Amino acid sequence: MWKNRRRIVALLGGATVLILPFLRVRGRSAARFDLPSLSLHFFGAVVPIDEFYLVLLGALFLVALTLWVTVVFGRLWCGWLCPQTVIGEVGEWIASALPAGFRRGGKTLALLPFSALVSLSLLWYVVPPAEATRDLFRSPILLGAFLAQWGVIYIMVAVVGPRFCKSACPYAMLQNVLADRETLAVAYDPARPECLRCDGCTRSCPVGIDVRKGGQRECIACAACIDACREATSPRNVAPFIAYRGTVLRGKAYLFAGGCLAAALVLLAAMWSRPDVRFAVQWEGKAGTPRGNVYRYSVRNDSDRPVAVALSVEGPARLLDDPEVAVPSRGRVTGTVTVQAGDGTPGEILITAAGRGFRIVRRSAFP
Ligand code: SF4
Ligand code: SF4
Repeated sequence: MWKNRRRIVALLGGATVLILPFLRVRGRSAARFDLPSLSLHFFGAVVPIDEFYLVLLGALFLVALTLWVTVVFGRLWCGWLCPQTVIGEVGEWIASALPAGFRRGGKTLALLPFSALVSLSLLWYVVPPAEATRDLFRSPILLGAFLAQWGVIYIMVAVVGPRFCKSACPYAMLQNVLADRETLAVAYDPARPECLRCDGCTRSCPVGIDVRKGGQRECIACAACIDACREATSPRNVAPFIAYRGTVLRGKAYLFAGGCLAAALVLLAAMWSRPDVRFAVQWEGKAGTPRGNVYRYSVRNDSDRPVAVALSVEGPARLLDDPEVAVPSRGRVTGTVTVQAGDGTPGEILITAAGRGFRIVRRSAFP
């Protein structure tokens, strides 16, 4: 039954979402946007928010992935993984253990703690999970965010439900633009006239459509109608009239997969080629010593180990300050150095920051 497969996928998806912030990779959450440091943690990589080009490349990859999945698999996401569907489904699942007369109310009640858990898990993605859970009732900001999210999630799944998928979901609109005749979709086979007309498919449909009337944009590809049809037809040894139909392996699918792969490679290359140490220098003013200038420097260390940086100056000039700078892991050190001209007056100087595996040279004026 598709229902069981969908539930397994939903459980695995839900468990992954709950576990990821707790999973530690190189001492950090596997996936989380860390608010205090304004950086994205993703499986050991740390992307500070000021590296905006990486955020853009990541967004580009997500767009390419969405296009590929939508063109090939249609609304499979909607029926199988979208939280709007999955949370409602879990509520139904819990309620199915109750006597028939209590199921509707049971689902509404079961969704209360479940949407609270989803709201809490969203906090785990911005505040360290242990901290978010411990401080939930101590911090008015955390509590306010938790309650607001809980309310919205509960209304979305318990009150709005599949009506959102049917009429307001923006992804559904994107799907309408991208899908073609070969996109995977749940479809009735009109070539077979012997349909039992039991209406099981229509009754089981969460968005209330009749799949026998052909492809409809409201369909979320959940396959509930296939299960209902199978139940009706299997006692008669007849194959179901409804099935997933479409062509996955085709030219357009390869084209979009290629775009997706290219975007992923560009993102990986950009992350791979990021320097661990950054060095910037700016002229600050004249020094109190004769023929001297003061420069402000900044060294940022984006690696997980402390680095020792040796500053030096090239040309007919010398450093008057201590040239050694220790920069802690994921830290930044700023300071000033005084440079004094030697013989002659250089128009500009080269200040170098060097350490294990790096050498960065910056040019600056020597007025
Ligand atoms: S038509 Fe079938 S697959 Fe589509 S939403 Fe209704 S039950 Fe789900
Ligand atoms: S469930 Fe199957 S047999 Fe029954 S009406 Fe729908 S398509 Fe026909």
